[in-house]
This record gives sequence, C-alpha cells and structure tokens, in this order.
Amino acid sequence: MRSFAYVRPPDVAAAVRAIAAEPEARFLGGGTNLVDLMREGIETPATVVDITGLPLADVEELPGGGVRIGAAVRNAELAAHPLIRARYPVLSQALLSGASAQLRNMATVGGNLLQRTRCPYFYDEAAACNRREPDSGCGAIGGLNRDHAVLGVSDACIATHPSDMCVALAALDAEVEAESVRGVRRVPLTGFHRLPGDAPHVETDLAPDELVTAVELPAPVTTTSRYRKVRDRASYAFALVSVAAALEVRDGTVTAVRLALGGVAPKPWRAHEAERVLTGAPATEEAYRRAAEAELTAAVGRPGNAFKIDLARRTIVATLRELGREGS
Ligand code: SF4
Repeated sequence: MRSFAYVRPPDVAAAVRAIAAEPEARFLGGGTNLVDLMREGIETPATVVDITGLPLADVEELPGGGVRIGAAVRNAELAAHPLIRARYPVLSQALLSGASAQLRNMATVGGNLLQRTRCPYFYDEAAACNRREPDSGCGAIGGLNRDHAVLGVSDACIATHPSDMCVALAALDAEVEAESVRGVRRVPLTGFHRLPGDAPHVETDLAPDELVTAVELPAPVTTTSRYRKVRDRASYAFALVSVAAALEVRDGTVTAVRLALGGVAPKPWRAHEAERVLTGAPATEEAYRRAAEAELTAAVGRPGNAFKIDLARRTIVATLRELGREGS
C-alpha cells in the first residue's frame, strides 16, 4: 500500500474544504471497500479524509411520512431501525442480505452507495479493464462473465453494481444529498449511478469534490414490500439476481407498484417498463409474467450469464406473486 496523508475534519464544512483543496483525496467512512481497493493498488489517494467523526449518523422522520438517513449510519443500524422495519421492509431486508454481520456493522450508507464493482478483472491489475484503466479493454466480455450484467451494458463494460441496499433505494424513489463548497444538491437515486457507455470509469453523478451527506426517502406507496435475492450460497455472496418490490393491490387490481432489479445491470435497475405494464392491471400471475417479459426484452446475454435473463423473469414473478397474496 502506498503511504498517504490522513486528516480528520471536525465538521462537514471542513471536510468539503479538504476535498476541494485536493480532489484526488478520498473520503473514508467504514472503509470496507476503500481499504481493500487501496491494498490492491486500485485506489491510491494521496490523502484520506476520515469522515467518521462528522454528525451524519442519524435517522430522522420527515414531515409527510418520509425518512432522512445520514450518510454515516451503519448498514446494520439502518436495517434494525424501527422506522425502516415498519415503513420500508424492502430496505431492511436488502441490507440484511448484504455482506456479513461484521461488514454490516462497519459499512455506512454513503460507502454502500459508492462501492465499486466486484468484477474480478477490475481487481486484477494484469487484466484489461476499461473501468480501472480507460481504453485498456474489457477482460470479461470474452472471458468469464457468469456474474456480469445483461441490462444497460456497453461494448466497454458489462460489470454489475454490487449493492443490495441501492436496489431497494431505487425502488423507493430515494434521493441522495451531496454537499461541496458550492452548496448542497439532491440527485434521484436512479440518476446517481451511471451506465458505462464508453466511459465506464465514470461511475456516478457525484463530482470529485462532493460529499454524500444523506439519503432521503419519501413516504412509501405501500408497506407491502420485499427484497428477494438469488445467490450461489445463503450468505456473504453477491446477487446473481435480486428484486426489490412494493405492491399495492385493491379489489384484485394493481394500484401501485415499485420494482427494481439487482445483479443484472451496472447500476441499480429501476424496472419502469414492468411498472408501466402492471399499473392498473389485474394482480394475476399472467400480468406478472407480462411485466417481467416487458422489462427483460432489452436484455443481452452472453455464454456465461444468459441464464440470468430467465432467472430474473422468474424472480420478478415469484416476488410479485408473494406480495400480491399479502397485499390483497
Ligand atoms: Fe472492467 Fe467492466 Fe470489463 Fe469488468 S466488465 S473487466 S469492470 S470493463
């Protein structure tokens, strides 16, 4: 690991001044991804700005039924929070399905948002990887791509976004708050992460000098929600496919639906097409199938990962079926 300077600002204003003075610096929260990346030589910041002392660790109720979550709230704490468990079960379940108990105790909401892909070629300095080194190629496209994406990919990168939490946040219409020396701005979660296009190394909408300070959730459309994660083993594994869904059914008709997918795209994938098909449709197996089909029409499979398309279809249908029974 390369040596680096370490600073610990006393407040948010000092933190954003520190990063503005040196945009190549990195913020350190729980460290569960950054420290790994520094050990591997993929991140080599000259300065690490430790933000664990900033007052960003609260979960607060908002007027109107929403919730504000500080960026430094630990994943385990957020999953167990009574407001989250009662109003956003999908978020609590997504958090508990991620990583291990030890990692959830350390990892923060801000760090979870900004974690980088787990594509093995990205971590292998001997391999070609456009995301790690622009214009070097992509080892995964003609290589081992069982874990890779089928939606939103490009000829430059087919990596998946690894977060479970972000899939639930995408379904819940979350907004990310970011602060810099220029002020505070808010970005919808669905626009926060970028698709790779021809610049996969640009992963988010965040400017290099911005600090994520909070995530806000509007009041839920329904508390009938679920996170279903399909993976190779029961714990401590990334999703092959995951589904975050909230479904409201009245008199046999879908009156509200929020759906997002994980493990299948380079960003948390909000399933707008499926939502369009389902809204106002009868809450039936047939409608769930049509919605899943509509969302996955654009999917592109490769020899290693084509199975994900059918797996995603079936996981969407199974999740909606379960919620439909509960919510009617
Ligand atoms: Fe790199 Fe993306 Fe290709 Fe993986 S899929 S090797 S992250 S460019």
